[in-house]
Amino acid sequence: MTGTGQTRPPATWLRVRPEGLFCEPGGFHIDPTRGVDRAVITHGHSDHARAGHRAVLATPETLAIMRLRLGEGMAVSAQPLAYGETLDLNGVRVTLRPAGHVLGSAQVVMEFQGSRAVVSGDYKRTPDPTCAPFEPVPCDLFVTEATFALPVFHHPPPEQEIARLLDSMRLFPDRTHVVGCYALGKCQRLIALLRRAGWDGPIHIHGALAAMCRLYEEHGVPLGDLRPATEADRATLAGALVLAPPGAISDRWSRRMSDPVVALASGWMRVRQRAKSRGVELPLVISDHADWSELNRTIDDVGAPEVWVTHGREEALIHAMTARGIRGRALHLVGLEDEAAA
Ligand SMILES: [Zn+2]
Ligand SMILES: [Zn+2]
Repeated sequence: MTGTGQTRPPATWLRVRPEGLFCEPGGFHIDPTRGVDRAVITHGHSDHARAGHRAVLATPETLAIMRLRLGEGMAVSAQPLAYGETLDLNGVRVTLRPAGHVLGSAQVVMEFQGSRAVVSGDYKRTPDPTCAPFEPVPCDLFVTEATFALPVFHHPPPEQEIARLLDSMRLFPDRTHVVGCYALGKCQRLIALLRRAGWDGPIHIHGALAAMCRLYEEHGVPLGDLRPATEADRATLAGALVLAPPGAISDRWSRRMSDPVVALASGWMRVRQRAKSRGVELPLVISDHADWSELNRTIDDVGAPEVWVTHGREEALIHAMTARGIRGRALHLVGLEDEAAA
């Protein structure tokens, strides 16, 4: 897409501003950290989707998630754009493509004067029964996340981690298994993976997870027999499986369980010390972010000569791509951290 002399490389029209990435000719920000005039939102996690924008463009699923989390008045106007549909914003063609991260998560594809930039948002390449798979889009500039951008981060197959949880439940049939998981994405993925592994019994969920589970079911992701954990008594929960937000697993809330096995589902569980410091007996390495090899494979798949890294561990990734002849740039964007969701 270069060589005509007419093309404008994306670096001349996609800008890094303190509040986030800004597409200058299109007049919109992507996942800005403060209220702006026009925002394109990649997905519903709170570090990407904030209240206070005048106009918001996102997938219908992400808009539904934003309304649930931020209220009906989350923006003055909200426009849905389904995967694969294209919208012209002041001469910039904008298309959303699946990012494979959570329900509705999208990469923002922008085409302007002969060149194409893709902003990945958060993404993963491992298949996830609760959302559409990541689609690599060839581009001139790729903007990637880098949450787990160190060679040490290798996520095992999620089925293997689910099998470890089911093994523990068989081994300790009288203990309550309390699994910490982020409310948007991780929770529903865990449930869907458990169902696929053959666990069709009841799953008790903390009240803070219920509304998002309902939203997923309304969007065609069946989750099976879910019951409120908060109303259940100690005897009912003996031997039961309980899902709760990460903040609830080690506090007063889980102490009323019967001799709980505390588990936590996160890519960070690869780091033993993190599991230990949080009192996690059963760390489950299940992540909604690309690991080291997925990040590098994706950069190769999209074939962009220039790659920008938004947040995470930039240095190692940039070093690895420089060795392959790709220009790398660390953006050091602030405000993008979803450690709990990782
Ligand atoms: Zn996210
Ligand atoms: Zn994020």
